[in-house]
Amino acid sequence: MGRYSGGCQCGAVRFQVEGELEASICHCRMCQKAFGAYYAPLVSVRGTDFTWTRGAPRHFASSNLVRRGFCADCGTPLTYEAPDGMAVAHGAFDDPAAIAPRLQFGLEARLPFVDGLAALPGTRTDEDVQATPFLAALVSCQHPDHDTARWPPAG
Ligand SMILES: [Zn+2]
Ligand SMILES: [Zn+2]
Repeated sequence: MGRYSGGCQCGAVRFQVEGELEASICHCRMCQKAFGAYYAPLVSVRGTDFTWTRGAPRHFASSNLVRRGFCADCGTPLTYEAPDGMAVAHGAFDDPAAIAPRLQFGLEARLPFVDGLAALPGTRTDEDVQATPFLAALVSCQHPDHDTARWPPAG
């Protein structure tokens, strides 16, 4: 049993969940499109105590049986809602490292390069700052990774 919180990038939509979570990734083409990504990282909240604590997602019915929730203000994908339960976007959690995925779905659509991603050459952001001068002036508008008293923040 754990207690978790999270929300969209702008902070207009926030949630809390208490219970046993199960995380997975789905490679299916619907999930690729809905997340604009190689696969959808999803955390099932079936059987948990889940509440939207600020705002609520807007929805797109991606089929007759499934709808996808997202923040209408910032566009962050937030949910996959099927007749047998709801799953929440893993990256929307305030502490995504607290939950690890255990399953893959939609293997027939897995993109051929996905398995090689971890082996690609890479840099840390602080190394990028030297090569990309504008990053030094960047001010984040992203909601912090914890609940806040008001939204949008004062000022
Ligand atoms: Zn938002
Ligand atoms: Zn899928």
